[in-house]
Amino acid sequence: MERFANFIGGEYTDPLGGEWLPVYEPACGEAYAEVARSGADDVDAAVAAAREAFPAWAGLSGLERGRLLERVAQGIEARLDELVAMESRDSGKPEALARRVDIPRAALNFRFYGAAAGQFASEAHTGPGAVNFTLRSPVGVAGCISPWNLPLYLFSWKLVPALAAGCTVVAKPSEWTPATATRLAGIAREAGLPAGVLNVVHGLGAEAGRALVEHPEVPAVSFTGGTRTGAEIAGRAAPAFKRLSLELGGKNPTIVFADCDFEKAVAGALRAAFSNQGEICLCGSRILIERPLYERFRDAFVAGAKKLRVGDPRDASTDVGALVSEPHYRKVLGYLDLAREEGGHILCGGEAPALPGRLAGGWFVPPTVIEGLGNDCRTNQEEIFGPVATLVPFDGEEEALALANGVRYGLAASLWTENGGRALRVAERLQAGLIWVNCWMLRDLRTPMGGVKDSGLGHEGGFDSMRFFTDARNVCLAY
Ligand code: NAD
Repeated sequence: MERFANFIGGEYTDPLGGEWLPVYEPACGEAYAEVARSGADDVDAAVAAAREAFPAWAGLSGLERGRLLERVAQGIEARLDELVAMESRDSGKPEALARRVDIPRAALNFRFYGAAAGQFASEAHTGPGAVNFTLRSPVGVAGCISPWNLPLYLFSWKLVPALAAGCTVVAKPSEWTPATATRLAGIAREAGLPAGVLNVVHGLGAEAGRALVEHPEVPAVSFTGGTRTGAEIAGRAAPAFKRLSLELGGKNPTIVFADCDFEKAVAGALRAAFSNQGEICLCGSRILIERPLYERFRDAFVAGAKKLRVGDPRDASTDVGALVSEPHYRKVLGYLDLAREEGGHILCGGEAPALPGRLAGGWFVPPTVIEGLGNDCRTNQEEIFGPVATLVPFDGEEEALALANGVRYGLAASLWTENGGRALRVAERLQAGLIWVNCWMLRDLRTPMGGVKDSGLGHEGGFDSMRFFTDARNVCLAY
């Protein structure tokens, strides 16, 4: 059986405790590989390697670091087919999606921050009789912890700005999807990244993840994952005054006004609800529809959801693949039972499909649309993170805002209207870090990305991510 080992000091290494965890292929529900179950001693070894590599890496110019990061981008692109197949087998997502989104975006993360490394600058403030300038230096070893839903995309999004800023990295990918992170380490080595600059430690969150967060030589932790995990990490990191970036969960509204471009809004809401099986933190799972349009929109949305093909992630015509793990699959099915108990009416989906052949044991849930639930029920308050959307009617902007903002989360929102004034009025009052008007998940990597309320702390994107990994020292020079 294939084994995904750690990558420490430029070498693939087995976990010191000799223990391995099973890795499953969600499309058939069977283990196909094993991943290192690392402990605190493996994390210690990785941090030691990263500390040793730090002075030389931090001493390179931004342009030199950028040149190496660009070479990693090219290495990813040269292995597109291999990485697409690995990502899809590991996570259950359609290969077509990994080819269009996940792997190209991972390459872009390296290219974008490769270019940014050579452009990063600090500020100067001139005043009467004095000039202040800010020195920025990389904090040292950065700890990066990422989730399973966009494995290589988010793994690289966390660690590349740290490398660009001059930090060395110990990164822990999700134990559910370790394949492409393992492969990336080798690609980076081939591209010329010096030993110890990027280290990958696999394992469980409560073991390897916790050891990384608590390690005294890791002054900055960048985490993307669930809100509950984020709270736990914050609790452990705060007493050591560690720098923390937390990108957490969401329960995002798609707000459809009666004056929208109807076809575009239906297509956009479908994409926002069901892309990647609904397993994207930015997915729009609560669809709020202005009442005059409600029935027409509902019927078109349900017809569109029924057309999405659930099937083998390898098949080019598949729109919806398998959910990442059995526990997650059971959790999503549990929410469908809950929605029924809460009085929801299931308009399509709702049952696990019986798929033939190798897919018979896979973790599939079809696109499911539910109506008839109030905003306060658990189905409309809790993050389900699956292909499940609820439809809720509203009257006017005030009610739309009350519903949209009436959850503990505040990650993203999309709104659909042809009225520019309304778009601005509503956007200004939405409690969300990312707001899309007449589009969804259209990303410009220069923009700040981060949630409000229980969706996180801090911003990623552009130079914000690089600043996070640096210490600022102000020098005031009087003349
Ligand atoms: P998770 O919180 O269970 O795990 C995320 C990572 O943290 C994994 O690598 C895990 O091993 C590790 N971890 C778990 N417990 C830990 C601990 N105590 N200490 C240190 N590390 C620990 O999340 P998940 O199930 O992998 O991902 C889904 C969640 O991620 C959803 O809530 C989703 O909304 C969120 N997410 C947010 C964003 C964003 O940008 N805001 C992006 C993608 C996913």
